[in-house]
Amino acid sequence: MGLSDCSFCLIAEESNENELIAVNRSAVAFFDKYPVSQGHALVIPKRHEANFFKLLPEEQLDVWKLLNEVHLVLSDMFQPDGFNVGINVAEAGGQTVGHAHVHLIPRYGGDVEDPRGGVRWVIPYNAPYWGTK
Ligand code: 5GP
Ligand code: ZN
Repeated sequence: MGLSDCSFCLIAEESNENELIAVNRSAVAFFDKYPVSQGHALVIPKRHEANFFKLLPEEQLDVWKLLNEVHLVLSDMFQPDGFNVGINVAEAGGQTVGHAHVHLIPRYGGDVEDPRGGVRWVIPYNAPYWGTK
């Protein structure tokens, strides 16, 4: 895949350090261009691979280490009350950009009426389990 074919490869290869939140050996982190909340960030491997589960273990580890760094940065910058972490894998999983990425989404008290269940709401009709006993 060439440089211009993947917008995330372009970010990984062309960004300078002040456009990135953090960087390490094989991963970079930056702010989402269409954030769902203030501070919504993405952590990606430098190497182009669509499927997170096909990354090498050391790439996954670098992504996860960077996620921890970004969590600290966002906590300091925005003082959120919580986070969601998510990886969309393949079209059926909702993936729209074909370069693996981890979403780190800061959450703020009251940002939605009832936040219970968090990422369970990717499938809304099964999300609420409380009160079903
Ligand atoms: P997906 O649906 O693939 O899990 O998420 C792709 C994410 O990439 C979305 O949250 C979207 O807002 C973000 N995004 C799409 N294009 C760009 C871009 O060119 N730059 C940045 N920073 N984020 C992007
Ligand atoms: Zn790419």
